[in-house]
Amino acid sequence: MSESFGWNPWHGCRKISPGCKNCYVYRIDASHGRDASEIRKTADFGLPLRRNRAGEWKIPDGSLVYTCFSSDFLLKEADGWRAEAWDMMRQRPGLRFLFITKRIDRLESCLPPDWGNGWENVEICCTCENQEMADFRLPIYRAAPIVRKTVVCEPLLGYIDLSNHIGPWLAGGVIAGGESGEGARLCRYDWILDLRRQCAEAGVPFHFKQTGALFEKDGRVWRIPRRSQHPQAKAAGIDHDGRILL
Ligand code: SF4
Repeated sequence: MSESFGWNPWHGCRKISPGCKNCYVYRIDASHGRDASEIRKTADFGLPLRRNRAGEWKIPDGSLVYTCFSSDFLLKEADGWRAEAWDMMRQRPGLRFLFITKRIDRLESCLPPDWGNGWENVEICCTCENQEMADFRLPIYRAAPIVRKTVVCEPLLGYIDLSNHIGPWLAGGVIAGGESGEGARLCRYDWILDLRRQCAEAGVPFHFKQTGALFEKDGRVWRIPRRSQHPQAKAAGIDHDGRILL
């Protein structure tokens, strides 16, 4: 199994849609007396090209690199830094970089000139937390030159009808989950099951990642401690491998 690493070339973000309301970057920064709206390049900026004393890559080939999880890779405020970040990804074809964005509408203007139909080592996931964001972002995402696509419906804030959007092009499938942390908004199991049904009908993989902190099932609302949110989703046993089920 490949190792995974985090790479946060910049830190901080700007809230742009309902899913951002309880953003964990803001929450964690606030607990340290910092303001996540102050966006800065980090000391880890050059991490993908760093080597240890033996001259080996600090992040070995074959690793999965969770990229920019304390910001958004396509953030406007990072426009001046991104070309260098792309360049590091270009120099490490043996790594698999993965980032999740709420700014897929900015992708085209942010791509490097040699991007072509997408780099094999860069996976870009698109977040849709509600119907409005799905209807806005998914047509753009579908048309975008990205080798492997995954939709992330997290925090899921209501029923989402994806039927006009999903299909075999979505090889990475749909990942859904509730909201964690203080002030988390409700997630209903019905919403999750409905997404699962849509994926099964469209032949798209589906993964129920976590319940979130406030979860409604069978008419009852449950407060779920953080340590149980992932295990309880797993225990539901509703993941789907993408075979078409009609
Ligand atoms: S885009 Fe992501 S990182 Fe940025 S404010 Fe929204 S939730 Fe937070």
